[in-house]
Amino acid sequence: MVSLRLFNTLGRRVVDFAPREDGHVRMYTCGPTVYNTVHIGNLRTFLWEDVLRRHLLARGWRVTQVMNLTDVDDKTIRGAAEAGLSLRDFTTKYADLFFRDIDRLGFRRADVYPRATDHVPQMRALTAKLLENGHAYESEGSVYFRIATFPEYGRLSGIDLAAARRGERVADDEYEKEDVKDFVLWKAAKPGEPSWPSPWGDGRPGWHIECSAMSMKYLGEHFDIHTGAVDNIFPHHENEIAQSEAATGQTFVDLWLHAEHLIVDGEKMAKSKGNFFTLDDVLAKRDDPVAVRYLLLSVPYRKKLNFTWDALAAAAAAVDRIKSAVARLDDAARSAAATAGAWPAAERAATFSKEFSGALDDDLNTAAALGALFTFLRDVNAAQVEGTLDAPGAAAAAAAIRGSDAVLGILPPKDDVLPAEIEAQIGARLAARKRRDFAEADRIRAALAAKGILLEDGPSGTRWKRA
Ligand code: AMP
Ligand code: ZN
Repeated sequence: MVSLRLFNTLGRRVVDFAPREDGHVRMYTCGPTVYNTVHIGNLRTFLWEDVLRRHLLARGWRVTQVMNLTDVDDKTIRGAAEAGLSLRDFTTKYADLFFRDIDRLGFRRADVYPRATDHVPQMRALTAKLLENGHAYESEGSVYFRIATFPEYGRLSGIDLAAARRGERVADDEYEKEDVKDFVLWKAAKPGEPSWPSPWGDGRPGWHIECSAMSMKYLGEHFDIHTGAVDNIFPHHENEIAQSEAATGQTFVDLWLHAEHLIVDGEKMAKSKGNFFTLDDVLAKRDDPVAVRYLLLSVPYRKKLNFTWDALAAAAAAVDRIKSAVARLDDAARSAAATAGAWPAAERAATFSKEFSGALDDDLNTAAALGALFTFLRDVNAAQVEGTLDAPGAAAAAAAIRGSDAVLGILPPKDDVLPAEIEAQIGARLAARKRRDFAEADRIRAALAAKGILLEDGPSGTRWKRA
């Protein structure tokens, strides 16, 4: 089998990937901070992780995916206070909205969605270990990681350690590269803020320690893949590596993967900039979640994706082409009409499947994978027009397209594809009614009913459903 090549941010090069345990990939993805409705930029990153996971599965590996919910940090605490809710109630509301969004976009759920506040004992234990082995120090009820004790600090992000060895500290969860300093593992409680007891006094975990503690709990101290968007590289993932490896003395993660941002008008889509759309905002203008899914996955993850309404319309058209091609093939596969079958469908379908998965093996090149799909659709269509695609060939072509959909996730379940044959019969019945040939209209209705298709006439036309 061709190897799967992925770009490792650690070392900045493409590597051949193989899981540590034969046949089983362990992967951790930084999940949402549940203080607000996620925007489609966040969703692009999460969707790329869904595509990655589906491709790993399609390659025959078992995947254990853990995605955390950050439900305690500077932003969630501030939000809960402003809303007058407990931290739990406040974050549950946004966690529920997050799940609703990823369901609408057809995500496969991760195996576990651990909440930070359910893992404070693990975070305390990790902090205690770092204090014990001299990588951390206490100051006024808070605990900081001393980056000078970890010479590899900066390896992921390429920051300049010389600038860091100033003995300064930073207590905020998020900061810029210029601010590289000793970072907080445990924060002393502030009056009125949620806190947990600890040997250093009441307080709460910092953001970075959350992901180290939860990933190691569910995936072990050394696992395969850790993902996020590029803004997670520094400080978040740099700090995760430092505190995890300083605590365990071994490699934390083999492969670090980071997605580029979704942008609008040349700028990163961000809550803080106010230039964001939630999924609801987008669906209010165009109620087509599958088109949103297609658009978000169509640009390879290491390229910026510029969101425009035109691009969404084009995505909707592309999805329609795929869906109707599959419907036509399903029809042709059922059809008894003899066609010459000169077109080598099985062979071409196999070539397409190989090209499709080969493109994904090339650092998840979704654009090339879709390119292969559309080339195949064009050729299949030409064969149908020429009448050289026989029923088994149509079935093989449809199966290959459905095979690619295990990764793309845009086709409806097989039953819901309205066969063009039924559409044609509905049209014929309508024409019969127009010319007042009610006997013919009734005959068509009965014929469809015999196949388990029920028609309902209403003000917006005729709808069908399965009996
Ligand atoms: P947050 O909820 O802010 O922790 O973000 C959740 C995830 O979305 C993180 O991995 C972020 O890096 C990522 N993210 C934030 N903004 C964007 C964007 N404009 N495009 C893609 N990913 C983003
Ligand atoms: Zn994280």
